[in-house]
Amino acid sequence: MQRKQFIKSTLLTLGAMSNLQTLYAQQQQWPLTPLMPVLFLGHGSPMNAIEENEFVTGFRQQAMLLPTPVAILCISAHWYTDGTFVTAMEQPRTIHDFGGFPPQLYQVQYPAKGSVTLAIETKKLAEPIKVGLDESWGLDHGAWSVIKHLYPKANIPVVQLSIDYTKPASYHYDLATQLKQLRQHGVLIISSGNIIHNLAMADFANLNKKYGYDWAIEAHQALNKHLQNGNYDVLIDYKKQNKAWQLAIPTPDHYLPLIYALALQDKKDQMLLFNDTLLAGSLSMTSVKLFQ
Ligand code: ZN
Repeated sequence: MQRKQFIKSTLLTLGAMSNLQTLYAQQQQWPLTPLMPVLFLGHGSPMNAIEENEFVTGFRQQAMLLPTPVAILCISAHWYTDGTFVTAMEQPRTIHDFGGFPPQLYQVQYPAKGSVTLAIETKKLAEPIKVGLDESWGLDHGAWSVIKHLYPKANIPVVQLSIDYTKPASYHYDLATQLKQLRQHGVLIISSGNIIHNLAMADFANLNKKYGYDWAIEAHQALNKHLQNGNYDVLIDYKKQNKAWQLAIPTPDHYLPLIYALALQDKKDQMLLFNDTLLAGSLSMTSVKLFQ
């Protein structure tokens, strides 16, 4: 072998070795696991973080049935950005992104660690979609007000993925599809929003009253039917549906997290709807679990 050729082949071998080492290191960090479930959680009022009610009981009951995750990736309705970002700090802060609530809600801290490794992995899986690494956000109440009931000890690292408000539902579906692999590596993906969410029409005097306006009942029945029948094209095309849907989903922010969960579905998954209740006329707490 000529010297030049030898150097070339040695360099290639070294390159391959370092790739293998990287792969090995990654596998050590992210071992293969049985497919993790996926959750869409209807988070409702921020007060659910500190109140005892049937919804937080519903979250806890489901949490007891989940395998312990290595980390959580959360898509929250409350991180709504121009571009897609993922939190990449070691210790995310607890963000109290609301106003006019009692002082004890502002005192809640959820000190889960972040995971730079998961942030980088998420960014890689999303390619060619560009996902920026963010060091300024943290955990907003769409994430902590529900995750706190699943993992009260805050002992599972949490990373948030933002929702790009400039993009259509199909972009979010495609992006989430690329993240499916995380389910095989112990990552619990939780999206958090509310399928029916018309705050302007909410009956604030009866915020805990379980009832829906006629259009909310109609939209709720139709949405659930399409969910259970797997008609995701209709759910992605929510803007083209009837008046009841337009009243139910006046803005995309709380609805799009559902699209992430649907895109992560595996053929063998079962779907469970829980906390499936209309509230204050124009809100739904419906939550979805995909699992095997
Ligand atoms: Zn919200």
